Amino acid sequence: MIRVDKLNKSFGDLHVLKDIDMIVKESDVVVLIGASGSGKSTLLRSLNFLEIKDSGNVIIKGEQVERDTHDLNKIRERVGMVFQHFNLFPHKTVLGNVIEAPTQVKGIKKEQAIKDGKELLDKVGLGDKYNVYPSTLSGGQKQRVAIARALAMKPEVMLFDEPTSALDPELVGEVLSTMKELAEEGMTMVVVTHEMGFAREVGDWVVYMHDGKIVERGVPNDLFDNPKEERTQAFLSSIL
Ligand code: ATP
Ligand code: MG
Repeated sequence: MIRVDKLNKSFGDLHVLKDIDMIVKESDVVVLIGASGSGKSTLLRSLNFLEIKDSGNVIIKGEQVERDTHDLNKIRERVGMVFQHFNLFPHKTVLGNVIEAPTQVKGIKKEQAIKDGKELLDKVGLGDKYNVYPSTLSGGQKQRVAIARALAMKPEVMLFDEPTSALDPELVGEVLSTMKELAEEGMTMVVVTHEMGFAREVGDWVVYMHDGKIVERGVPNDLFDNPKEERTQAFLSSIL
């Protein structure tokens, strides 16, 4: 589904991604963990070309994507992304947020987009909130709107960058269960999170990054219970 080969990215003199290799298979949930500044967000953003690599390859469904040869917007339609801060349009209703990209970017007819959008909002448990404005929602509800909005583009892959980090603790669970349902339906997902319970329960793979490199990867129980690398052990004991 996604293959990353020897991906490198620098910001000025700062070498942020160093020869990253990664494979995400269809329906896999890959959880990225690592300390602040290790390059998790930059890697995620490279997967939908919000960051443009310096060298290496990002191959999506067999297609090698290069800045010059592909329409990056087309790729971004196929790879949905949810951020820590929900970035909803404040002047649009919940449903307005969800139908914006399908109608404006994909040219879906408004009636169809409304029908699909309502279904998605029902699915994330916000069937009674179509017509309210984001400012009236809790953080957890806003994030579920953001997930519905990303899903409205019918992406092949969903990327989540610390989707629960800005939430009050009591609101984290509702967002994680929405993500878990999505995973159970077979969505391919790459998730940066500090929620190790989620990583263990929902993740197929956990990837530990340190200083721009992938230090270790494994199935959750192996990586959490028997980390092989000293770096991973140190990181896990600092957070668990
Ligand atoms: P966090 O857990 O804090 O979100 P992260 O693992 O997501 O950290 P990144 O955001 O990928 O880390 O950042 C990796 C490094 O790249 C950091 O040193 C950061 O300061 C730097 N960096 C990220 N984006 C830029 C940018 N646009 N310009 C310059 N430096 C950047
Ligand atoms: Mg980050």
